[in-house]
Amino acid sequence: MASRICLFPGSFDPMTLGHADIINRAADLFDTIIIGIGTNSSKQSMFSLEQRKEWISAVFAHDSRIQVQEYHGLTVDFCKKIDARFILRGIRSVGDFEYERAISDLNKSLVPGIETVFLTSSARYASVSSTLVRDVIRYGGDARQFLPKEIVY
Ligand code: ADP
Repeated sequence: MASRICLFPGSFDPMTLGHADIINRAADLFDTIIIGIGTNSSKQSMFSLEQRKEWISAVFAHDSRIQVQEYHGLTVDFCKKIDARFILRGIRSVGDFEYERAISDLNKSLVPGIETVFLTSSARYASVSSTLVRDVIRYGGDARQFLPKEIVY
């Protein structure tokens, strides 16, 4: 059987405990999870690509099934490049669902063989987002409770 490679795409600016929870829960569903830091977004990031990548490598250093890579361009093109048939995404709310469904439909129109797998967030992380974490950091608050311990900013 072909190896089940899954891409978890996102900005991870920075990776939060919510992201890490989704990845850890999905790890047994796939042979390999590639965390893909997309760099084609129009958003200006708070943390550099190198910093985000370094943090993610440290968070998952103990698990060889989980790797991190950056990519440019369309997510489905990167899937083809790394031979991933699955895309993983997390859903916190109805708002996330509407948005994620549209992206999933688009990706499937572009490459029919790709399935997006959704996991709903764990209740304790349902309100955690990189956007709110950045706000806390920007205004001098302590965001450690939302971040894996390897992420020290
Ligand atoms: P993007 O910029 O593509 O939205 P993010 O880095 O913000 O990328 O998020 C990547 C994925 O992780 C998305 O599917 C998002 O819904 C999911 N996610 C973000 N925060 C959480 C959380 N607290 N719990 C579960 N999933 C989450």
